[in-house]
Amino acid sequence: MKLPVYMDNHSTTPVDPRVFEAMAPWFTEKFGNAASRSHSFGWEAAEAVKKARKQVAALIGAAPDEIVFTSGATESDNLAIKGVAEALRPRGNHIITAATEHRAVLDSCKRLEQQGFKVTCLPVDGRGRVDPDSVHHAHQTQTILVSIMLANNEVGTIQPIAEIGRIAHEHGALFHTDAVQAAGKLSIDVDAMNIDLLSLSAHKMYGPKGVGALYVRRRNAAVQLAPLSLLSPLSPMIDGGGHEGGLRSGTLNVPGIVGFGAACLIAAKEMQLESEHLRRLRDRLAELLRGGLDEIQVNGHPAERLPNNLNVSFGYVDGEALLVGLSDVAVSSGAACTSAKMEPSHVLRAMGVSEELAQGSLRFGLGRFNTEEEVEYVAGRVIETVGRLRELSPVYSSARESARASSREPGRGRME
Ligand SMILES: *Cc1c(COP(=O)(O)O)cnc(C)c1O
Repeated sequence: MKLPVYMDNHSTTPVDPRVFEAMAPWFTEKFGNAASRSHSFGWEAAEAVKKARKQVAALIGAAPDEIVFTSGATESDNLAIKGVAEALRPRGNHIITAATEHRAVLDSCKRLEQQGFKVTCLPVDGRGRVDPDSVHHAHQTQTILVSIMLANNEVGTIQPIAEIGRIAHEHGALFHTDAVQAAGKLSIDVDAMNIDLLSLSAHKMYGPKGVGALYVRRRNAAVQLAPLSLLSPLSPMIDGGGHEGGLRSGTLNVPGIVGFGAACLIAAKEMQLESEHLRRLRDRLAELLRGGLDEIQVNGHPAERLPNNLNVSFGYVDGEALLVGLSDVAVSSGAACTSAKMEPSHVLRAMGVSEELAQGSLRFGLGRFNTEEEVEYVAGRVIETVGRLRELSPVYSSARESARASSREPGRGRME
């Protein structure tokens, strides 16, 4: 086993060696610009992009001409939200999203608010789920877009996407979903799930960094844009040579796109077996932690969650101290470093987790290359480190005393 152990696969994933192999020739040997129409270097690159476009589209049940390549999901989320807002401004100025969305979505909405748009940010329940009824109630005649992620990057909660999409369409709004964390783990079908726009990122699924895609529905549009049907539902954010159907100008990142395609092909083939493997490892990790520690709480939905995600709050422990103690384990804490201060995760806070517990939380993101041996090592290190930190905590000792007293009453005691 190699140290440190990487268990932060929601942040990024290593490039799969098969993906790397597919990319290699497109840097040095086959370096053509896919937009060069006058020679074989360009034709060859265009062919490679065409193949990758098919592979990406196939993963989500889309047609190749509905895929717009971008620099990653941050750009895809920005393009989806700001692009729809600009294009459909004549129809309305209201957008619905949720409190646990990724910053790329929340901050795009915030930017639009400064420009006069109205944004409703829906709450989530204690497990991180959006109630589809709340989408219905939040709708106004001015609503043009609903943006709710498929699966959360911190707690892994899967949203009832198909139903939310259906409700958005009933009200004549477009539906965007950030599917970055779900891609390659859950099967996705843009038609069955009523999705109009969908964001993907290659580096979250064993492809390279700096490449992503936005799916933009062109077929069977559920939302009739008449009488403004001459408007495209999406304005480009980057103007230039008119690449990607004019929706995203800029010379295509051919090696990155080839790698993204290869990653999608592998994901489509191996998703089912891999998700079972991830779920087994994740459940083993949870079981070991529960067996070795009291006063812990698993955050997120018990069933509707990504197979590779485990988010745990450790009572009476400071997350920063925990991370320092876990120097040979790469995981994320429930606090994000914003400027100089540790801010508790906006996702955990939206789910009603107290500031203290959120600060004492860890996110484990299992991946394709993790092993059972690593899971056991990480569990052991976490149990040891939490135990050591708690030994130093007078609050923990007195809490244990009162827990012992109250555990004689039925239904009291351990947090979960
Ligand atoms: C990582 C991530 C993004 C941003 O993707 P980049 O390709 O790194 O810009 C957006 N949304 C979610 C849910 C993510 O996990």
